Amino acid sequence: MAYSTGSYKFYLTIILLVAFEFFAFGQNKCGFEGFQMTNTSDRQILEARTKLRIPLVFHIVYRDKKFNFPKSVILEQIQTLNDDFNGKNAQVSTLSPEFSALVGDFNVEFYLAEWDSSCIAFSGIQRMKTHILDLGTYKNNAGKRAIFYSNEGGTDAIIPSKYINIWVAEMESLRGISSSPSMANSLEDGIIIDPRFFGNHSLNDQLYEWGHTLSHEMGHYFGLNHIWGSLANECVEDDGIDDTPISYGPNFFCRNRVETCDGINPMWQNFMDYTQDDCLALFTAGQVDAMKLNLNTFRVGLLTWNDCSDLTLTRVKIFPNPCRDYIVITLNTRARLAYSLYSIQGQIIVNGSLDEGENYILNMNHLSAGSYILELVDPQGHLTKITQLVVKI
Ligand SMILES: [Zn+2]
Repeated sequence: MAYSTGSYKFYLTIILLVAFEFFAFGQNKCGFEGFQMTNTSDRQILEARTKLRIPLVFHIVYRDKKFNFPKSVILEQIQTLNDDFNGKNAQVSTLSPEFSALVGDFNVEFYLAEWDSSCIAFSGIQRMKTHILDLGTYKNNAGKRAIFYSNEGGTDAIIPSKYINIWVAEMESLRGISSSPSMANSLEDGIIIDPRFFGNHSLNDQLYEWGHTLSHEMGHYFGLNHIWGSLANECVEDDGIDDTPISYGPNFFCRNRVETCDGINPMWQNFMDYTQDDCLALFTAGQVDAMKLNLNTFRVGLLTWNDCSDLTLTRVKIFPNPCRDYIVITLNTRARLAYSLYSIQGQIIVNGSLDEGENYILNMNHLSAGSYILELVDPQGHLTKITQLVVKI
């Protein structure tokens, strides 16, 4: 059983009233406490018709160069995140039938952002060296968290209404911190992860080395509470999700030392517990529903990032058309584009790539009079501009 807040409207009211940023310091903890979650009963409004795509921006802020992780570590972390959110974690196969029936599937693809705030092609990764000890938790004299501000020694969030910003920065006593849905689009909206708990690499903490700390914090980012609720070490208050069993308090080790409430099997395999990484396996379907509700209520901008795509297309100019000996293609953008010229029957005649900021002249004088198709595609293959060209003799 679990605590249920009742109606959807009541649930939204609770979210708006709760104070959202709580930081609890202690080894192996994350910086999110005391959030009230709800039961959601109307799954029909939550079901995504197609796989959701959500862009991520990583801020690698390192004091020691060993924590300036290569892109390969970041991509591996994203894969772990996708597996965890889509019910694909390898540990799912070890669950009892009681719990394996509850595994949720978010049907989401987290991916590296491709454009910065100026619609310039972007790797999705910002890197900065710092000399500030434990910058992830450092606050200035005014109580401002420095990691979120470039003028305080951190890095500014990039379009937090559209991208999930993730800072990887040292924190002495925390594994991670997450903002809540009510902080959407604020300058401090996002997640901070200590590098010892980020990804899967040789420098990791031995208990939390499989990259599930980001999944835990992402759960908070979409509004989940810890599985035991806001009050630890009691069996009354819970996380507000119907299909997670009531839990006594945080578990750190699996298969032993697990406290129970009235003999109910504790779900220490849940990503919203503190259990060591190699025992974690699932978000429940109820948790996924709650996260999708918060996504669609507070963070819907994450699903609508296509402005730069449109901008890129309008920045491409092709002239003259009709043409005689050549055409000019101008790119007023730093994006690279691949081009292909086809006959009207669909046979490819020539192809190549256009570098950023280039005026490109495409020779047409060897072609017979008639119509041709020019196709331009961006490096990710997402954008296509197709123009019909007419060649005159
Ligand atoms: Zn937490």
